[in-house]
Amino acid sequence: MKGLVLDAKWDPKPDYKVSDWEKKTGKAISGNDIWRNPTLEVRSWPDPKPGPQEVLLEIQACGVCGSDMHFYETDDDNYILYPGLTKFATILGHEFSAKVVEIGKDVTLLTPGDMVTVEEMIWCGRCIPCRNGYPNHCTNLEEIGFTIPGAFANYIAVDEKFCWKIDAIAEKVGSEEKAYEVAALTEPTCVAYNAMFERAGGFRPGHFVSVFGAGSIGLAGIALAKAAGAGKIVAFEVSKPRLELAKAVGADYAYDPREVHAGEVLMELSDGAGFDFHVEAAGVPELTIPEMEQGLAINSKIVQIGRAAKRVPMYLEAFQVRRAQAYGAQGHSGHETFPNVIRLVASGRIDLSPIITSRYGLDDTLDAIAKSTDRTDGKILVKPN
Ligand SMILES: [Zn+2]
Ligand SMILES: [Zn+2]
Repeated sequence: MKGLVLDAKWDPKPDYKVSDWEKKTGKAISGNDIWRNPTLEVRSWPDPKPGPQEVLLEIQACGVCGSDMHFYETDDDNYILYPGLTKFATILGHEFSAKVVEIGKDVTLLTPGDMVTVEEMIWCGRCIPCRNGYPNHCTNLEEIGFTIPGAFANYIAVDEKFCWKIDAIAEKVGSEEKAYEVAALTEPTCVAYNAMFERAGGFRPGHFVSVFGAGSIGLAGIALAKAAGAGKIVAFEVSKPRLELAKAVGADYAYDPREVHAGEVLMELSDGAGFDFHVEAAGVPELTIPEMEQGLAINSKIVQIGRAAKRVPMYLEAFQVRRAQAYGAQGHSGHETFPNVIRLVASGRIDLSPIITSRYGLDDTLDAIAKSTDRTDGKILVKPN
């Protein structure tokens, strides 16, 4: 088969101390500090063979994520920009839907022909955080498209326990092809769901919600906030096309934060009461958190989803006076998240299909990633088969 393969040189930056775990596993905890001179190429790769508890999946659609751009883009010394867990060479791609084409001998949950979407986080189920119910914090984590082969490829083999059937979505949208496209958005939507409802505990119907950043996770956050009964939703985003997408999926107001004073907008739109729930999906907390602080309602919450390797000045006095709380969140596994997001899509209560703005074939995956670096699209899909 073929896949988009990323290879790079293991060349730790002079001031980076490589840990024993990194040496032993060949996995970089901080990719940006270790992987240099990346090459990306669609080329042949050995056909995956499913193990006893695995299924072989034929990939139908795979979304381009911000992290894929951060493999394509490099810093001044030609290190990848992506700061997280990585092991190369591997195939990229982790937001996908697929058809089961073969099953291992011990598989009981799936049969050939089943339509599924798949978790990106391969949690072990055996480490202490997993056993305590926190798979998003697994200490033996593998990540599809980061440390093990991903879904910008014809096929992938994964343990059946990471797959979730999407039949209900197919019934709702009426066509297999559309179901696979929409279901490829499940993974980023689950990241938003986990942060907003599992980690931060959600908000009351009628509450006012702000979402900073309208990439696919921010857009999913807007749709989820609408479905959960937000009284008012405002989005802040620097890309004009994405401002329109924000409105298309449920934002009542959408502003370019360079043209307004976001904190003041939040106070004006709430007649001085402030907003109750703030979602950071822009990955620039040093800019967004101070704006949110100015728009905190009493009892309000801030949830951090965007990733940024930066310290952020926070004025804790504002959190005391407004009885406010900040939450950190990562991942999408466990806590009923995948099944509940699939239910929301299947019921039509969230419809993210407007955010799919371009489609590419597998051979053109590099063009798809290059296009996404414009940061004007909603979600770009690669359809390998
Ligand atoms: Zn992603
Ligand atoms: Zn684990």
